[in-house]
Amino acid sequence: MNYDLHCHSNISDGVLSPAELVRRAAEKRVDVLALTDHDDVAGLAEARDAATTLGLHFVNGVEISVTWSGVTVHVVGLNLEPDCADLQAGLAQIQQGRHLRAERMAHDLEKHGIPGVLEGAMRFASNPRLIGRTHFARYLVEAGVCKDVRTVFKKFLVRGRPGYAAHEWTGLDNAIAWIRAAGGQAVLAHPGRYDLKGKATRRLLAEFKALGGEGVEVVTGSHTPDQHQLFAELAAYFGLMASRGSDFHAPGEYRELGGGPELPAKCVPIWHNWSF
Ligand code: AMP
Ligand code: MN
Ligand code: MN
Ligand code: MN
Repeated sequence: MNYDLHCHSNISDGVLSPAELVRRAAEKRVDVLALTDHDDVAGLAEARDAATTLGLHFVNGVEISVTWSGVTVHVVGLNLEPDCADLQAGLAQIQQGRHLRAERMAHDLEKHGIPGVLEGAMRFASNPRLIGRTHFARYLVEAGVCKDVRTVFKKFLVRGRPGYAAHEWTGLDNAIAWIRAAGGQAVLAHPGRYDLKGKATRRLLAEFKALGGEGVEVVTGSHTPDQHQLFAELAAYFGLMASRGSDFHAPGEYRELGGGPELPAKCVPIWHNWSF
């Protein structure tokens, strides 16, 4: 069975609609798909309908933006009830924060001689509630400032570069609590990608587990083969289950739906006691 438990639609910073995304997942031979848009659950109903039509198993998901120890980390929620009031209120608060951050990002770009970026970026945000750096990046490419999105994330929008705005997301405790209130399972996304030094990754995993986190992404488009093994070992050490997801955003980017190896044999898959 091919499980892809992390991907994005145009409800956040992906380019496909939820239904288009599910169709592509079926073409790529995904058997079980979770849609995990950043900080919004509005795509789940459409995706689930499409999955039912195509005979794919669908899992409700979300990817929540968190600040932990001054670093941005992402927490995926799986199998959650999207109508949960606590979850909805928490996500609405993050979405407001995204708008305030976007204004500060645009203001900083303007100071650096690039005007009109907020309006430009909003044109790339099919969901006006959810504005993110990827929409800024796509606009800067369209405007001819950079040749591609990858270059934008080297020259702009990151610490020390024009268009960067420091931002305090929600706490790890809140993200996990909202997911659990919605009956879901909290999974730490792509742990190999964070700017954490020394033992900080272990501290994060320990705290995540203590707060009620259940899983960690072991196989993700963000990890190298060495990291698949490393995080399989750390998951076992901390008593966390393992998840697998592409983090697909757009066709033609290097992460494809359903891509990546199977979980290492020592892992307990996050889906081991799921029933459909
Ligand atoms: P945000 O949550 O608005 O800060 O945006 C984070 C998103 O930007 C990630 O989910 C990726 O989709 C995208 N992103 C971050 N770094 C890069 C990068 N180096 N290259 C391409 N996309 C990136
Ligand atoms: Mn993204
Ligand atoms: Mn992420
Ligand atoms: Mn993601």
